[in-house]
Amino acid sequence: MEIVRVGSSLYDVVIAGAGAAGNYLAYKLAGLGYKVMVFEEHERIGEPVQCTGIIGAECLDRFPLFEGAVLGEVSSAKLFRPSGKELRVSRDSVQGYIVDRAAFDRGLAEKAQRQGAQYLLGSRVEDMAVLDNRVRIETAGAETFEAKTAVIACGFGSKLPQRLGLGEVGDLIMGAQAEVSVDDIEEIEVYFNQGLAPGFFAWFVPTTEGRALVGLFSRRNPGTNLRDLLESLFRQGKIATPEVKISYGGIPLRPLPKTYLRRVIVVGDAAGQVKPTTGGGIYYGLLCAEVAVDTLHRALSADRFSERLFSRYQKEWKQRIGRELRTGYFARRLYERLTNHQIDKIFDIIESRGIHRSLLQSPDLSFDWHGDIILEGLKHLAPWRRLFGWPRNVPGGKR
Ligand SMILES: Cc1cc2nc3c(=O)[nH]c(=O)nc-3n(C[C@H](O)[C@H](O)[C@H](O)COP(=O)(O)OP(=O)(O)OC[C@H]3O[C@@H](n4cnc5c(N)ncnc54)[C@H](O)[C@@H]3O)c2cc1C
Repeated sequence: MEIVRVGSSLYDVVIAGAGAAGNYLAYKLAGLGYKVMVFEEHERIGEPVQCTGIIGAECLDRFPLFEGAVLGEVSSAKLFRPSGKELRVSRDSVQGYIVDRAAFDRGLAEKAQRQGAQYLLGSRVEDMAVLDNRVRIETAGAETFEAKTAVIACGFGSKLPQRLGLGEVGDLIMGAQAEVSVDDIEEIEVYFNQGLAPGFFAWFVPTTEGRALVGLFSRRNPGTNLRDLLESLFRQGKIATPEVKISYGGIPLRPLPKTYLRRVIVVGDAAGQVKPTTGGGIYYGLLCAEVAVDTLHRALSADRFSERLFSRYQKEWKQRIGRELRTGYFARRLYERLTNHQIDKIFDIIESRGIHRSLLQSPDLSFDWHGDIILEGLKHLAPWRRLFGWPRNVPGGKR
């Protein structure tokens, strides 16, 4: 990709971070005719990859931006409970896709550049200051840029929101992932085990011919736990070698208290717009980036940059995904209280009562929207509430 290096001048929008959210904003805003500059701290867009690249079918329908990056379709998965027993779940239609995350980010950045967005790679935004009539951005090379508005799309762990007084994401979890060589794996495998992935789950996802991603999110020791999983998969003959490079990344589990300021918007992982159930953040980040585009377009076209106008961004993205984030986080906390024995018991109840079959047939079951299915699942499990040590006020249970 050709990189255009430009000197300092007033931009309409500067975007810190060329990930899914930042590139989408650049693409849309440049397409609307705005002068856009994107800063990316790494020299290559999309790298290092800290993502498995699974998206729901709805994401691809709504954002037809993944051409050339789709590696496979998902319509079934094998779920492994702590005792090792397997439950296969499937639906007739395609539920999701596995995408090459680096190729997606690069492709979207190229689209944005074709619309006129400028990119500065290897350029880290160190600081932002909101002045009366502009935002000033300072990069690691001590260069200064000025813009009418700015977007923080720096992903997980960015300190920029905190520096601007927007607080920190409410909770987070760390993940570890490795690419492995495989002989034969056709379906996604998911492992529930509080020893292996405390508070979360682990995954084994086929990507290209002979390759797969193995990873987990964990409240404790993600690297050590992943090594244990790799050893176990190796012993089972599922992977060629456990000696592979592990990469680390985190995800926010609760959003930032405030995601806007006069002239500034925070979007994607930096704002905590991630499903707390699965750790998926591509779709929710894009949905919120869509709201951010509307807000910035309204501000720039009217030449009005009040805090009130920018506050509509937060109101609108919360209308879209706020309930999902709250219900998903609640479910996550309930799951974290379970022992392996209790998780096995839940699988027993689900299988013996055929609950999985009724959930799989439920129109509420969606790859991306988990609130309703969580409440339906909890309703089924409510009679066993005491067995799992869940509080009385579990939604779906008797009050
Ligand atoms: C192990 C793992 C697996 C995951 N798997 C999935 C999955 O299967 N499906 C899914 O939907 N989600 C998944 N996620 C979450 C997903 O990766 C994120 O939600 C998504 O990448 C968020 O996009 P973003 O644009 O907000 O941030 P990012 O994609 O993280 O992009 C932020 C960009 O900003 C750059 N940057 C950071 N700081 C600065 C700075 N100061 N100046 C300039 N540039 C900066 C970074 O280099 C990066 O390129 C996974 C996460 C992890 C850790």
